[in-house]
Amino acid sequence: MTAYSDYEPVIGLEVHVQLLTHTKLFCGCSTSFGDPPNTHTCPVCLGLPGALPVLNAEALRMAVRASLALGCTIAEKSIFARKNYFYPDLPKGYQISQYDAPLAEHGALDVEIDGYTRRANIRRIHIEEDAGKSVHGAAGSSIVDLNRAGTPLIEIVGDPDLRSPAEAAEYLKRLRETLIYLGANDGNLEQGSFRCDANVSVRKRGATALGTRTELKNITSFKFVADAIDGEIHRQIRVIERGERVRMETRGYNADKRETFSMRDKENDAGYRYFPEPDLPPLLVSQEYTSNVRADLPELPAQKRARYASELGLTPYAAGVLTAHPAVAAFFEATLALAGDPVKTSNFIQAEVLRDVRTTGLTADLPVTAAQVADLLRLAADGTISGKQAKEVYTLMAGTQQMPADIVRERNMAVLRDEAAIVALAEKILAANPKQVAAYLAGKTALLGFFVGQLMKETKGSASPDIVNSVLVRLLQHPS
Ligand code: ADP
Ligand code: MG
Ligand code: ZN
Repeated sequence: MTAYSDYEPVIGLEVHVQLLTHTKLFCGCSTSFGDPPNTHTCPVCLGLPGALPVLNAEALRMAVRASLALGCTIAEKSIFARKNYFYPDLPKGYQISQYDAPLAEHGALDVEIDGYTRRANIRRIHIEEDAGKSVHGAAGSSIVDLNRAGTPLIEIVGDPDLRSPAEAAEYLKRLRETLIYLGANDGNLEQGSFRCDANVSVRKRGATALGTRTELKNITSFKFVADAIDGEIHRQIRVIERGERVRMETRGYNADKRETFSMRDKENDAGYRYFPEPDLPPLLVSQEYTSNVRADLPELPAQKRARYASELGLTPYAAGVLTAHPAVAAFFEATLALAGDPVKTSNFIQAEVLRDVRTTGLTADLPVTAAQVADLLRLAADGTISGKQAKEVYTLMAGTQQMPADIVRERNMAVLRDEAAIVALAEKILAANPKQVAAYLAGKTALLGFFVGQLMKETKGSASPDIVNSVLVRLLQHPS
């Protein structure tokens, strides 16, 4: 990223998060993704006259869960409102959302970056329904798929507290990670289940008033978040330096050109004419409900990172790697429970297992089980196999059901610790190399390595290096 000299960037993110419920927000239609168009619709989500919405209890629970995990206060009474606009993928002509009385307010997410912590306050979290999808085909034709219409969303509105593109990217990463831990969202920017709008402005360093902001829409990849915001900051600085003013508008990002472009003007926004939804009563959430949801929260990634460092003695880096996905953290914890030794377990998982782990949404594809890795760590710890052999065994067992002990037995891989056998081999080698023995005895002690090498060659590397060394030193000191 680049420096902005006299200007300070100010960034506030609005994130739309699809909740992973089985059914839609106000009807029983399935939320399943990728099915034939318009197969998950009913009078409610099509907005047919007379159809009445009923709030999905699972969606409410997930929304409260996410709000609590992000430190928000839950309103005991919130109000659904109609946000009126016309668009082909919005059959009702309005979206049911929440407006001046949202579900949750006053949260925060701490973002650690380059050794400092930025507290990004969360202004509000509200529940709303998603629109359908317009699919633009060839020859200028467009078709509408309403399978997504009515899917539950929460919108997480951040305060303008972020001060660099890197902070914004890190905030999104932490937010996504937290939601995945909650099982509330799969964090997929590309497929649009996790969508981010970035509000960006700049001001002269030292100024307290906020500059005019633009809103960057449709950032569809984590790779582009920081670049898109950086490009927009530079554009605004150039506008101001030319003596012009930044216009309040919505802009998109062209990743190929690495620049933002104007989509629509917001200055004369006619407004959505919000009004309370007449078909839904106020949403009442009791304190008892909220405390039940709170009691059910899992350990969150930030808490896990802190605990791995303080209780298990892992480096902050290792703690970060192992907690980046809940399935990886669960794997580490399961292996640790069987194997003990947090540092060795952590090192091995990072060095070997994570090399070929792929995570998608809530799940991770792990090539081995915790029991396999724990058994392998035990064989290495008690000296049955060497560290090098452990890597070999790992490669052999990955993707199979085989236990490492069986692989070691089948392949005769166990380290040779039979001292009598090693003495016999050593005597043979010393007898076969009288010149080197004489040179060693004359003071060329570096030749020890030569004898060790010979013996290792005889045993195909399976002899215990400790025993080999001590046997050779002893025999050389007292040649028979
Ligand atoms: P609106 O009511 O028009 O949606 P809000 O005040 O609710 O505007 O802010 C919407 C989003 O824009 C929030 O995420 C907020 O942090 C961000 N934001 C507001 N003003 C600025 C600004 N000057 N610079 C950057 N972000 C801003
Ligand atoms: Mg807004
Ligand atoms: Zn429906």
